[in-house]
Amino acid sequence: MEAATKVQAGDEARPRIGGHYTLRCPLCGAQHEDRAEDLLLSCPEDHPPSLLRAVYRQKRLVIHPELSGAFRYADWLPIRRTLSGVSGPVVYRSAGLASALGLSNLLIVFSGFWPERGALMETCTFKELEAQAVCGRIPAGWSSSLVVCSAGNTARAFLQACSRAGIAALLVVPEHCLPLLWSAGGRSPFVRLAVVGGEADYADAIQAGSLIAQTDGFSAEGGARNAARRDGMGTTVLAATEAAGAIPDHYFQAVGSGTGAIAAWEASLRLLEDGRFGERKMKLHLAQNIPFTPMADAWRAGSRRLPEIHEAKARRDSKAVRAPVLTNRAPPYSVAGGLYDALSDCGGLMYRISNKEAERAGQLFEDREGCDLDPAAEVAVAALIQAVEAGSIGARSVVALNITGGGRKRIEATARVERLEPDVRFDMEDLRARGVAAVLRELRQREVSS
Ligand SMILES: [Zn+2]
Repeated sequence: MEAATKVQAGDEARPRIGGHYTLRCPLCGAQHEDRAEDLLLSCPEDHPPSLLRAVYRQKRLVIHPELSGAFRYADWLPIRRTLSGVSGPVVYRSAGLASALGLSNLLIVFSGFWPERGALMETCTFKELEAQAVCGRIPAGWSSSLVVCSAGNTARAFLQACSRAGIAALLVVPEHCLPLLWSAGGRSPFVRLAVVGGEADYADAIQAGSLIAQTDGFSAEGGARNAARRDGMGTTVLAATEAAGAIPDHYFQAVGSGTGAIAAWEASLRLLEDGRFGERKMKLHLAQNIPFTPMADAWRAGSRRLPEIHEAKARRDSKAVRAPVLTNRAPPYSVAGGLYDALSDCGGLMYRISNKEAERAGQLFEDREGCDLDPAAEVAVAALIQAVEAGSIGARSVVALNITGGGRKRIEATARVERLEPDVRFDMEDLRARGVAAVLRELRQREVSS
């Protein structure tokens, strides 16, 4: 990748952290200061829910080469501190996949483990970026345990980031996602794993997590509502723009909750406001994995509302996909500032990708580029193939392909990868019958005995 022409390292040696952002409500326009005692996750005004967006004093993209990971763009993160020794995405111009698809400006934004390319994310997922930013947002002296709900990848990323930053956390994951729970690094004893068993899916884990977060000693991390999460992930677009010297014309990503895509859109708006990287909006191309495609179906029907899906069917469908991390029954699609607004603003497109298409796309990437992909990233590559076949993107357009995860085969070959054992297991019926307190007692008892 040639050096960026338009971006220079920051004029200040260190980013100015603290008081460098406010949180704006897209619905009522109110601007709020972040809170010191906990995380402000929603607008206190009396109106339907919205996603608070960080507004930064610094209007220009500033690069801090001395900082690592997401903190390279610290001026555009809602944080109170930076963390060292973390990893960021790697951007390079594709030769192999690009020539197979007839594209001349294909940028691969790779988050994962691929040492030959300089990608060193040991959890093999771009969720590391959101975990870094969320940990950076936690105020000093924070005493409660952060409750993080996940379908797998997010839990892996928070396990690593919270362990390194010394932040207590409880990760809540559906049992069928346990195969995704592994670690190549150490785990702090203050980071605990709760598994929701039975027929539980991601939505159940979210529900269990929100019940736990309401009890003393726990705080909700907030998921998509946490602006740090979104701006951490949005650094993939900043990295692509830094490398290309321009905002990409097209952006491809697979979506489960859509939070990463909302983040990409928000980052592109900041870059437009900067003014040095072009004036055209970046078009979102987002993909879901058949048969679990509620957002793709709603968007194609021109609807802000998600289709009503019978719960039993949603559970069945969520287990029939190749990429289970892409199944969220309650994604921030309709909410103000959510995915519908993002797609509407940029004239975006959504794709429905079969398991077979994803598998073939993953194989093509591995053959042409040389690294194995996470199933969700395979879905994104398959969407790019569909877009090329449909003639939706020009051969010379600047295309950013967000490879949200990859390199698991590599890290398994080079490092000791351990399966994670849960600290507590319950099912939703059990939780309702016994109550949250009883489940937490069990967790604390284990803490005492271990
Ligand atoms: Zn508001």
